[in-house]
Amino acid sequence: MRVYNTLTKKKEQFNPIVPGEVSMYVCGPTVYNFFHIGNGRTFIVFDTIRRYFEYRGFKVKFVQNFTDIDDKMINKANDEGITVKELGDKYIDEYYKDADELNIERATVNPRATEFVTEIVEFVKGLIDKGFAYEVNGDVYFSTKSFEAYGKLSGQNIEDLQSGARISVDERKNDPMDFAVWKAKKPGEPAWESPWGLGRPGWHIECSCMAKKLLGETIDIHAGGSDLVFPHHENEIAQSEALTGKSFANYWLHSAFVNVNNQKMSKSLNNFFTAREILESFNSDVIRFLMLSAHYRQQLNFSEDLLESAKSSVERIYNAISNLESLLSEVNKDSMDEKEKVYLQSLDKYRQKYIEKMDDDFNTADAITAIFDLVRDVNSNIGVNASKELISSVLDLIRELGNPLGILQKTTKVSLEEEVENLIEQRQQARKNRDFTLADKIRDDLKARGIILEDTPQGVRWKKL
Ligand code: AMP
Ligand code: ZN
Repeated sequence: MRVYNTLTKKKEQFNPIVPGEVSMYVCGPTVYNFFHIGNGRTFIVFDTIRRYFEYRGFKVKFVQNFTDIDDKMINKANDEGITVKELGDKYIDEYYKDADELNIERATVNPRATEFVTEIVEFVKGLIDKGFAYEVNGDVYFSTKSFEAYGKLSGQNIEDLQSGARISVDERKNDPMDFAVWKAKKPGEPAWESPWGLGRPGWHIECSCMAKKLLGETIDIHAGGSDLVFPHHENEIAQSEALTGKSFANYWLHSAFVNVNNQKMSKSLNNFFTAREILESFNSDVIRFLMLSAHYRQQLNFSEDLLESAKSSVERIYNAISNLESLLSEVNKDSMDEKEKVYLQSLDKYRQKYIEKMDDDFNTADAITAIFDLVRDVNSNIGVNASKELISSVLDLIRELGNPLGILQKTTKVSLEEEVENLIEQRQQARKNRDFTLADKIRDDLKARGIILEDTPQGVRWKKL
């Protein structure tokens, strides 16, 4: 497998630390609100990557954190008149509701920053001991100049970063590029004991610390949205590698933004749609299909039209599934004959294509094309003479390829009863409209399937011959 590594700016062969296993850390949401569909893309993309590793036989340890303490959390909790803890509890619950609805698999662990404060304090102490961090009046800052490789992820040197970034001058810091790893308590803020007095962790330190604690000093993959490359991930690398002296993550993966009118979807620009809002009108298959129909490193301009077109694409595949499911209950032959075996074997080329595309830095867009090609082939080659064994093997194959993408797992099967009752209803309606041609066609089609309709004084009855 090949993955694009932001650190080297190249596609590289994926070689895990432990053969057959993947350790993966993804920066999760700040839990002060419902997540929007831009955040949703990041969660869906890395859920898909995790599922695909599993499909390829890897055992995946997947950690995604909840940032449950920062300025946004504190402000929102104050606005709502609840504690920061209550706010976090509430939106973690809401996160799970939406993520489950989007068919996002639960992480192996979802650590909360506030549950790791003791470990974070230890981490910060270690940085001070090694001379990488310094304390000023209860705040602790990481000294970027002391870490030689600072800037290696975002590909800039300190001078470039300094002139490019809008850094507020703060006389407590030795250098404007230094960042807080521990923040002294301000009035009204939640705080924890530390050697530097009451305070709370900075944002970047939580991920360095929890990744180390839960996955080890060097992990295979660290991931997040592309807005996190600088400063968040750059700072994580500095802290972790300064403390351990080891490489923090071997592969850095970043997913591109969801935009609205070519601007990043974000809470602050107020141009967002929550996942929950969208889920009211479109199901998870449609939303995931939309997100995965572009490569994860390509920006995606979100619109209602795009959702509608994703919906009709998904419906095309489900129509094929639904036809196969109906056929399955109707055909008489059980086992495949030789010709069918050869045909089923020929469908393996779509699986191979799919794997080839997904192995190439998770090219979900082309993988989806392989599914469409499979469906087209099956639509024109499987009919009433097929065996049950062939039909169910084909259904299994479609579901197999849908599963890493988190789509196509629903069943479309309605019971025979339901289907016949619906057709009878349509026939009655046709008769009322004096459309006897349609009414007769419905009766004849049912007869061809061995279902006989009888008009009785009590209404229409049906039986299967
Ligand atoms: P936040 O809740 O803002 O900390 O973001 C949670 C995750 O969503 C992070 O990995 C962000 O990089 C990602 N993210 C935020 N906005 C967008 C966007 N418009 N498109 C894609 N990912 C985003
Ligand atoms: Zn993070």
